[in-house]
Parts: sequence; C-alpha cells; structure tokens
Amino acid sequence: MNLGQHSLAVFSLLTILACGADGEAPLARFKFAQPHMGTIFRIVVYARNVRAASRASSAAFNRIAALDNTMSDYQSSSELMALCRRAGGPPVPVSEDLFRVLEKSQELAGRTHGAFDITCGPVVRLWRRARRRSELPDPQELAEARKLVGYTNVRLDNKRRTVQLLKSGMLLDLGGIAKGYAADQALAVLKKQGIASALVAAGGDIAVGAPPPGEEGWRIGIEPLESPAKPPNRFLMLRDQGVSTSGDSEQYVEIGGKRYSHIIDPRTGMALTGRSSVTIIADDATTSDATATAISVLGPDEGLAFAKSAHHIILFFVAATERGDRSYEWGSLPFAVSESSEGAATK
Ligand code: ADP
Ligand code: MG
Repeated sequence: MNLGQHSLAVFSLLTILACGADGEAPLARFKFAQPHMGTIFRIVVYARNVRAASRASSAAFNRIAALDNTMSDYQSSSELMALCRRAGGPPVPVSEDLFRVLEKSQELAGRTHGAFDITCGPVVRLWRRARRRSELPDPQELAEARKLVGYTNVRLDNKRRTVQLLKSGMLLDLGGIAKGYAADQALAVLKKQGIASALVAAGGDIAVGAPPPGEEGWRIGIEPLESPAKPPNRFLMLRDQGVSTSGDSEQYVEIGGKRYSHIIDPRTGMALTGRSSVTIIADDATTSDATATAISVLGPDEGLAFAKSAHHIILFFVAATERGDRSYEWGSLPFAVSESSEGAATK
C-alpha cells in the first residue's frame, strides 16, 4: 500500500465535556497516532481516563498492524503475497479477514465492470517504477502485465473459504481498500473495549463511530483540490459511517507535461491523467475507500451514475479542467454540509 493522502481533516470543537450524571469522571478526548500501511493512522477517542484510552487504542493499533501483515503487497511475508505465489495452482485456504476483503473487492469489481480491480498488481508495479524513474512504462512490458489483470480470474469459494488465482504470475493489490478495512476493524476493537465514541483515520480514509458526547457527529473537513495545504473549506458531520477521498493530490508523476496518478484504469493499463478528487460517504470505511477509488476511474459521468445507483452514498467529485473545477454532488446528506471554516485542525 502506498502513502495515503491527507485530504480529510478531523475537526471537533469540544475537548472536555461536563461530568456524567452518575458522578463518574468526565469524558475527555484523547488522540493517538502510529504509522501503518504506508500512512499515519490516527485515533481519537472519548474516554474516562488516559489509561482506558491508551489500552483501547493500543489494541486497535495491534489489530491494524496484524491486518498490514495480512494484506501488504510490500512485505513478501504477508498472507496476500503467499497467496499470489500460488497463482496458477489449486484453491488456497485463507484467513477470514483476507477472504472478506477479497469478497468485497470482487463484488465492487463486478458492479463497476472492472474499474475497481485488485488484480491490477502487475500494472501498478510498472507504474510505481515509472513514478520512481519519471519515465513512462515500456509499452511491451505494459502489454505483458495487462494479460495478468482481470477480476474474473479470481475464484472465491465461500463455503471452503478458499481463493484460486487462475493465472500464474497474477498479483493482487489491496491498496485501494485495505486502509478502509483496517479503519473499520480498529473502530470495532475500540467498541469492544467499551469506547463507542471514536474516530479512526488512515490518511484519506476515515471510520467514525458514535459522535462525541453532546455532538451530532464528527466534524470532518474536506480540503480544496488545488491547494491541499490550505485549511478545509467544507465540512461534513458524520456518525457510524466511513468517508474516503481518492485523488492525485499527493501521489503522481509528471512526464512530458502530463500528470499520471497512482490510480490506474485496469481496463486499459493506463494511469489516470485528469486531475480529480472524489469524496465518498458510505456505511463503513471499507466501502467508502474502495468506492472512492472506483469512482476516480469511472470519471464524473459514469461515476455519478454509479454513486446514484448505490445506497447511502454521497459524493463530491471535483475534476480540475482548464476552465476550473467542476464539482458534482449527489445524495441526501445526513447532516448539513457547512461552508464555514471555524474549528481547529486536529490532523
Ligand atoms: P490512497 O492509497 O491514496 O488512499 P486509493 O484508496 O485510491 O488511494 O488507492 C490507490 C491504490 O489502490 C493504488 O496505490 C494501488 O495500489 C491501488 N489501485 C490503483 N488503481 C486501482 C484500481 N483501479 N482498482 C483497485 N485498486 C487500485
Ligand atoms: Mg480507496
């Protein structure tokens, strides 16, 4: 997985709340951060004391680290890479986590006709090398890599919990979904530890639970496309949801005056070139993460149609053109989107 972008910032106006009626210590806000999956994971919790907050967040970080060991395509020791080494062979039994993520990926691949496709690994590798060298991938190599891409070459057996990769040399890449899944799982761990009011942010992928006490939701800022360093100019109030932004504001390479993104179109093998930023709100961060990547590939027209067809999804799509930003919005917002910039960044 690659470095995530930091397009979403977390805002909250309250830090400490009044004493509970039961005379217990007041709920206070605690923040933690650790690097995982090539990005910084941030956890914000409301807890009675620092011990409870640290214990719960340590457990959540441990879960994230374990998921990185399962799904990383950078560590050859990961379960994912072990599975890929057996590509072309018989079905392989996998862990529940890996199976769940593969199932979710395959479902989205089917619904987007391959715009989201985790078998894009061989092509993604070539584009990563291209970014490092600042030169386009060799067309011959790209053509060879493309032969290994295709989500229909992944067979999942739900009953046996096995995965079969039909072509030898296939390489799966969960960079477009794993951070969202890890954020959701970390949130679940916090809940199990008795902390309901929590937020887990993995770069541009955020999972939120119950709102901060006394608040309607978590206040999430969306950074402007053209100047990610500037403070966010739009805010969302979210609870029990996932929100993700996908775009090329951080990871891209410019070759011959053209910008090539780290998101590729698996149907053509080409990196995306138009500038865009897609923000998706969904029931969980696994869905928002993968869907934001998928909609980046689909582009404004098809992407909007897809967002409309999917439930509970709200979308901001900003595609930069010569004439300026084109902005699309669709969906019924659960809470008001505010244009104000009050509040302090807590990134
Ligand atoms: P970020 O990693 O910046 O949060 P995304 O969630 O959009 O961004 O994921 C991009 C990553 O997903 C890429 O770095 C690559 O590993 C992988 N990827 C790129 N294109 C696709 C695609 N079309 N379908 C599935 N995964 C993709
Ligand atoms: Mg994504």
